Amino acid sequence: MSKDSFTEASAYLKQALPLMIKYQIPTTPTNYAVWYTYVAQRNPGLSQAIDDSIRQQGHCSAHTSERLYQQHVADEASQSIEQTKLSLEAMLLELGATMADTLSDTGQFQQVLENSFAKLTRFESEGLSIEETTGLVRELIQGSRDISQSTRLFTSQLAEANKEIAELKQSLAKSRELAYQDALTGLLNRRAFDEALRGYLTSDSPFSLVLMDIDHFKRLNDQYGHLFGDQVLKALARRLSEACKDGEVAYRIGGEEMVIVLPKRNLTVARQFAEALRRAIERLSIMDKRSGERVSRITASFGVTEFKPSDDYETLMRRVDDQLYQAKALGRNRVMPMSL
Ligand code: GH3
Ligand code: MG
Ligand code: MG
Repeated sequence: MSKDSFTEASAYLKQALPLMIKYQIPTTPTNYAVWYTYVAQRNPGLSQAIDDSIRQQGHCSAHTSERLYQQHVADEASQSIEQTKLSLEAMLLELGATMADTLSDTGQFQQVLENSFAKLTRFESEGLSIEETTGLVRELIQGSRDISQSTRLFTSQLAEANKEIAELKQSLAKSRELAYQDALTGLLNRRAFDEALRGYLTSDSPFSLVLMDIDHFKRLNDQYGHLFGDQVLKALARRLSEACKDGEVAYRIGGEEMVIVLPKRNLTVARQFAEALRRAIERLSIMDKRSGERVSRITASFGVTEFKPSDDYETLMRRVDDQLYQAKALGRNRVMPMSL
């Protein structure tokens, strides 16, 4: 194969490939030979058959392409040197295309092509038969397939690994989410609160806390059952979430104890927030599905405090807890400290 015919072959490939892609012809050596022959216009019978197929069916299926190979290319290829050479070129082109698939941006592609071309010209000048040359090209193609296959394997392994990592990340995020979420109410849990609070304490930015505890919840449980108690908890959690619309965050830190962090808010604002919540809960009426009775008069008590720069976790929590205790002691359903 001379350099000229190689350049010519490359030019034909450039024409044949888009057609093969357009008609979704698999890039096998056989099909290369057919479409290469077609664009090179080397076999009028084949050209006619392909043109007819495209005119009549709008495409040339892979099946038709295979049949055309048998009819127009294969038989003659076994007889004529010219056709064998054609197949050889087609194989070389396949080598190029296979390599281009996977190695086009590595620079290896160019090198492999140049090497095989150099070998081919040497074989020809040394007078090797076309059969011997074909055999060597076959070896080359196999080699390229091996490279391409291992590259493909690597690529698919990479894709698989990527997928696994993505799934892992997702389930990690999910379990993290679950680890910080209270299953019954959907609010954030005590762990989330502890971490958030420690974050606030180290950042030294102003914030306030509202601690809420349902009044006589045990009595409610005793009277209407634990399931109803759960329903009350859920309803209260919903109220809390609705109230938290300005950067406030609600946590369920104990059985019937919830806390709200109010970033950038002072005691006065936090008190107003708690007072509004207290009234909303007071108005609540929840249907007991078991008895059909509407249960109202559900109330909660609130302790409120504002972060002081000298605070640590314990002093801050003790202060807000003391305020809640005061609210309980003074008769429940109230916010402490009292407004001044
Ligand atoms: P106080 O007004 O002093 O707060 O009285 P209380 O009855 O609310 O307080 P206490 O701490 O004596 O009782 C809390 C009750 O909350 C006891 C427990 O059965 C109930 N409780 C805790 N967690 C849950 C829960 O997840 N679901 C239900 N239904 N009840 C719970
Ligand atoms: Mg309690
Ligand atoms: Mg209680």
